[in-house]
Order: sequence, then C-alpha cells, then structure tokens
Amino acid sequence: MNIIDGDFSLEIRKIRNSIERSERKDFVTTYTEREFLNGKTSNERVLILRTRGCSWSYHSGCSMCGFWEDTNPNIRGDDIEKQVDEFLKIHPKGEVLKVFTSGSFLDPLEIPKDVQARVLKKLMDAYDFVVIETRPEYVNKSIDMIKGYSGKIQVAIGLESTDPKVLKYSINKNYTFEDYKRAAIMLHENGISVRTYVLLKPPFLTEREAIEDSVRTINDLLPYSDIISLNPLNVQKGTYVEYLYKSGRFRPPFLWSVIEVLLRTRNQEVPIVSLITGSGKKRGAHNGHICDVKISEAIRRYSETWDYGYIEGLDCECKLDWTNFMNAESQISFPIGELL
Ligand SMILES: [Zn+2]
Repeated sequence: MNIIDGDFSLEIRKIRNSIERSERKDFVTTYTEREFLNGKTSNERVLILRTRGCSWSYHSGCSMCGFWEDTNPNIRGDDIEKQVDEFLKIHPKGEVLKVFTSGSFLDPLEIPKDVQARVLKKLMDAYDFVVIETRPEYVNKSIDMIKGYSGKIQVAIGLESTDPKVLKYSINKNYTFEDYKRAAIMLHENGISVRTYVLLKPPFLTEREAIEDSVRTINDLLPYSDIISLNPLNVQKGTYVEYLYKSGRFRPPFLWSVIEVLLRTRNQEVPIVSLITGSGKKRGAHNGHICDVKISEAIRRYSETWDYGYIEGLDCECKLDWTNFMNAESQISFPIGELL
C-alpha cells in the first residue's frame, strides 16, 4: 500500500465540502434488483430515504463515499415518515425491501429513535423481509427495537476490509474489525442475520493487493456473516477517490479481479454476491474491452443464483492486459490509473 502524506481525514473533508448537499425532502429513489438471498433468488425492492446523511460524513467521511450528495441537513423526522408513506402508497407490499439512507438507519441523529421504530413497523408490516444498513456503533442501543423482528430483518454493515491499515489509511472508516465483530455477534445472539459489504480495491492498493485484501477479508468474515456483498469500488462525485482517479492514480478494479475474488472464496455456507454499480463503465469495475457486457452479465446471473457455473471458465484475449497491468504495477510498487 502506498499512502500519501498529510492529514488524510482532513483532505477527504476538504474535497467533499466543494460539493453542496441537496435541498430536496422527498425520498431519493426506488428501484428493483435480484440476488440470492435466504436460500433462493429473491426479488428485491430498494428504497433510498433522504436523511441528513451519515454522521461520520459531517466530521470527515470515507474516501470513496459520495452518498452525502443525496442528503439534506434540514430533514426532520416527520419528513422521513412522509417519505415512507409516499413510498408505501406506490409500492404497498412485496417480498424483500432494502431500505437505505446514505448513512445509518439506526443512527438517532439521522433518524430519531421514535421515527425509526414507527417507520420500521410500517415497512415490516408491508414486506416479508427487510434489510437495513448501519455503522456498527449504533447496533448496541437499537437491539431492543429490532430484536422483535428476528427472522424477518437483516442488518448490513459496510466493514469493507479487515485490514486495520486499509480501514484507517485507505478508507478512513473510523471503526475497526473488532467493532464490527461485537455488533455482528450481538445481532446473531438476538436471531438477526448479518450482511457485510466488502470493498474491492480501496485507494492506494494495487490491483493485486486489492484482490488479496478482499479474499482475506471475505475469509475473515465468513464466521460473522449470513451473506457477503462484494462491492467493487465505483468512482463517485466529490470524493477523495475521484480526485485520485482524475489525476491518474486510481483505476476501478477489472471485472477479472471480481471473478478471481469470487472463485477463490468459493464456499458452501455463505453466499457471496456482487451487484456491481456501473459495471463495465469507466467509473465502475471494467475490463475496458468488448467483453465487459458479457462478463457483467455473468456476474449478475451468478449473484442471482449463487451458481459458480456462470463465472467458471470465462476467458477473453483481454485477460492478458489484466495480467500485464498487474505486472506493471508490481514493478513500480504503486497503483496506476487507466492505461490509455
Ligand atoms: Zn475482454
């Protein structure tokens, strides 16, 4: 890992502050997706609520996260309740609902406690299974509210990596693997399933280092997770990663790297899915070759079925470019941007 000098946390904040937050009060968006969840291919609806945003983003934030662009510091609890009522008018019921906030659902500064409880009850009444996201520090004080939904709720935590150096110097996560473990164990003790996000290719890692980091991280997480989402980094607006990307010091991972991580962590216990944002696009995971569509589709089908058959034995002439890219990086020992 090749770390820059200076105050990383402050640099992230400076770049982020160049972009305004939103003034809107409606929910951000809703869409559908499919993935292998609870032992089958599940049809899922995603709802992104607009909140004041992640509390950590007000102090500094994570190097790759641009979600705060959708947030509005002036949103109140009753605005959030209105968003949920509006959403339920349009999509009153369904199988799986993922309700995201561009932060932590369980953060009382983001959604007041009483609103959390009321909103969650409405959503749990309408959908068979609900997934919420949170940083681990909010789990302890919320466990009493969510444990009644045991078996019908999943809590997702974005640990990204189990390497303390990557968490601190590449991502600026401001929590540790130990913090995550405490939260995951508490959730399991209360019968609540755990989803963990793993970030493929945090900044300052070469392609090869990034693959090794994700493989090791997933193996570390298997005892604590019921499902793992492998998220290849996509370059979001107003982030530190975007600054590196624009100055030729970051390239999103190759789709070949995604496949290598999935195949090397193959197991029978915990599904590892990868719903890739911007797959095949310049700012998302891509090989930069005509095969991007085919390989993206193979990973999508795999993630819906957890059938490794979709990603085994894939080949293309551009695999050599991927190997050459990694060899070039290992000779200079720092990450390089897109080769044009
Ligand atoms: Zn290709």
